[in-house]
Amino acid sequence: MREQKHFVSLTDDEILLLDGRCDERIQKKIDIVKMQQRYNIAAPDEYKPIIARILEKAERTGILSYSRGRHVRRCDACDKAAGYATYTRTTKYHRKGDPNFNRPLAFYAHSIAGFEICNDCFSRLEQHLLRNLDGIQAEVSHHLTGHSSALLCFTNVICNECQWAGHEGELKSLPVAFGGDAKCPRCGSTNQQIIGGKVARVYGQFTLIPNPKYQEPTS
Ligand SMILES: [Zn+2]
Ligand SMILES: [Zn+2]
Repeated sequence: MREQKHFVSLTDDEILLLDGRCDERIQKKIDIVKMQQRYNIAAPDEYKPIIARILEKAERTGILSYSRGRHVRRCDACDKAAGYATYTRTTKYHRKGDPNFNRPLAFYAHSIAGFEICNDCFSRLEQHLLRNLDGIQAEVSHHLTGHSSALLCFTNVICNECQWAGHEGELKSLPVAFGGDAKCPRCGSTNQQIIGGKVARVYGQFTLIPNPKYQEPTS
């Protein structure tokens, strides 16, 4: 027998009562509500979920990246899909106006921390996103903010020769004649595999340091 479904709208406090006691689909929404509360996001309700997801991803990876001009099939903020081109004529196989699944469409998007945001959403979201970036623990792209980031993100590295552990910003550079790569500040081993490099990146681990060139934006 099919289980009866209920369609209700819940406040943040109400939906949080289901935390850990519901199916995956609802838990995903709950996780986003928890993110919103953790970051104490100040924005209209409709923008809170995507801003929370952007901040969470940025802090988890150390970087809030931004680029524009990508063409994507779906917007992560409004869930709008680009869909498919339609047939312009009726033939033996197709009716005019039916979607042509061989011709997927794409729209222009802004990519923020890996989320694809359509132009409409971005123009409404941008100011709210920028207002919620104070104190964010990540290197924030100057293409998004228009000024240098207060923090810089470096991937952690380890020297397998002398066991020195640090981050890429602490490595000494090799002369350009050797390809301009880097070496361990303690024992001088290089990170160039080609000449037996011992310094390796620790993927997924990073260190944030204050940007020495950071200037408080003048607003
Ligand atoms: Zn959108
Ligand atoms: Zn070393």
